[in-house]
Amino acid sequence: MEIRSIGVIGAGQMGSGIAHVCALAGYDILIVDMSRALAEAGVEVVRSNMERQRRRGVIDQDQMDAALGRIAVVDSYAGLADCDCVIEAAIENEKVKKEILAELTSSLKADAIICTNTSSIPITRLAAATDRPEKFMGMHFMNPVPMMNLVELIRGLATDGETFDTIRALTLELGKVPANAEDFPAFIVNRILLPMINEAVYALYEGVGTVDSIDTAMRLGANHPMGPLELADFIGLDVCYSVMQVLYDGLADTKYRPCPLLAKYVEAGWLGRKSGRGFYDYSGETPVPTR
Ligand code: NAD
Repeated sequence: MEIRSIGVIGAGQMGSGIAHVCALAGYDILIVDMSRALAEAGVEVVRSNMERQRRRGVIDQDQMDAALGRIAVVDSYAGLADCDCVIEAAIENEKVKKEILAELTSSLKADAIICTNTSSIPITRLAAATDRPEKFMGMHFMNPVPMMNLVELIRGLATDGETFDTIRALTLELGKVPANAEDFPAFIVNRILLPMINEAVYALYEGVGTVDSIDTAMRLGANHPMGPLELADFIGLDVCYSVMQVLYDGLADTKYRPCPLLAKYVEAGWLGRKSGRGFYDYSGETPVPTR
């Protein structure tokens, strides 16, 4: 099956990044969020990120103008009726995602493929909320989408071969590298990465180190480009928390227990970079550790 037009649901960090790379690769993009204003804000993020790429010489003005010209905002799922593929990138909440998927399907053409960018929710369970589990799969982009080359591809129990092959070909067209993961909680990258971040929050909670010493230790001691707490703020603490919850519930092993301090930060609305405060305070020129 050939994909030409792609619908993106959710215009946050990931949705805007997905729209960005798909538009640059020549696909027509329709983007929808809870309101037109939110979707338009996502397109503005695409514009400013493309502007940065243009300044750095990664893309030229013509490529940028053409890509932005391929992105449009729609107000409802009815606007996605002609899309060949829809990529769902709304918040990491199973109830919300299931509601979106159930509502979306009646608007789509019968052979449209639906992908979810979920970081952790079982694909088979989300597929069951649609009318086409055979045309549903996980397409898990990494953040920031324009910079990160990996896309994890996850089949649900019912995903058919044609759907998988089409999405694998799309991934390659986007210039990304696919890695296949089976439908286990949090797949591969987050199954390994998030428990490390959670452990860093435990180290902070127990007073093993400060925010700065934990991040410095892992940057210089493990040669990680970013410390785990800095990375948690970048991912979003709400996303980190819900991935840990999914691992904890899905694998029923106490080693995945989300750190209570992570839960507290989320309850406080300290979600990391996107809310201006997490393990660092982002209100000034440079991020300042908060503990
Ligand atoms: P985000 O909070 O930046 O964006 C979520 C967007 O979804 C918001 O714009 C919100 O308004 C919108 N939304 C909420 N409810 C909606 C609804 N009912 N209909 C339409 N839009 C709705 O979150 P994000 O970081 O972009 O994460 C989105 C998805 O991508 C999640 O499933 C997350 O697990 C996954 N993901 C995140 C990362 C990461 O590092 N942040 C990486 C890979 C995958």
